[in-house]
Amino acid sequence: MSIIHRRHFIAGLAAGAASLAVGRAFAQAPAGPYTRAPLPYAFNALEPHIDAKTMEIHSGRHHEAYAGNMNNFAKDGPEWSKKAIHEVLANLNSLPEAIRTGVRNNLGGHANHTMFWQIMGAGGGTPSGELLAAIVRDFGSLSKMQEDFNASGLRVFGSGWTFVTVDKDGKLALVNKPNQDTPLMDGQRALLGNDVWEHAYYLNYQNRRADYLKAWWNVVNWAEVDKRYAAAKAGTLTI
Ligand code: MN
Repeated sequence: MSIIHRRHFIAGLAAGAASLAVGRAFAQAPAGPYTRAPLPYAFNALEPHIDAKTMEIHSGRHHEAYAGNMNNFAKDGPEWSKKAIHEVLANLNSLPEAIRTGVRNNLGGHANHTMFWQIMGAGGGTPSGELLAAIVRDFGSLSKMQEDFNASGLRVFGSGWTFVTVDKDGKLALVNKPNQDTPLMDGQRALLGNDVWEHAYYLNYQNRRADYLKAWWNVVNWAEVDKRYAAAKAGTLTI
């Protein structure tokens, strides 16, 4: 084999190993306490607002990687990894410094995406009862809340999330977070939140985040958001 051929051969091996690693991460995360639940609907259930390919890659690769990375961290942290996710995220400073940023990013990502899949679905309905009353009280109307939320989502520079938080009294507020940070890190709870990382919308919307934010409301599952509101007031909402 000539040197050039050998170089190509070695480069081919490296590329093959890389794709194998991606394939394996996609197929199964390392065993551990953090598991990515399957989507509660088909990949194409949110079309045309969010396309099937985006949902498949977003859940199967991005979220899967956060959960898999957490299981690797958990191998060296049997004590903290037994605690509830919201408790770990509210006490990041108690973790060893060497893994603190990694846990912040990956456990934050795991929690955010777990919430995100849950609050979406086909045929989203509308908020009702106490939740609707709280929206009107704290934002003026549902459409005003959506308008303010969309404007807030546009203000996230780079990768991050925009949330509506809910406290135990049912008070709602808008909060933005960078990267995979979450209101759980402040001891707060997200009523709902939208992922404005480009991976959440780029295939369909490219740079048009405003269009994605607007369309996203079509796939919010208000029955689930109603349940989260009731759980927050009861003090039982975890992530
Ligand atoms: Mn994401």
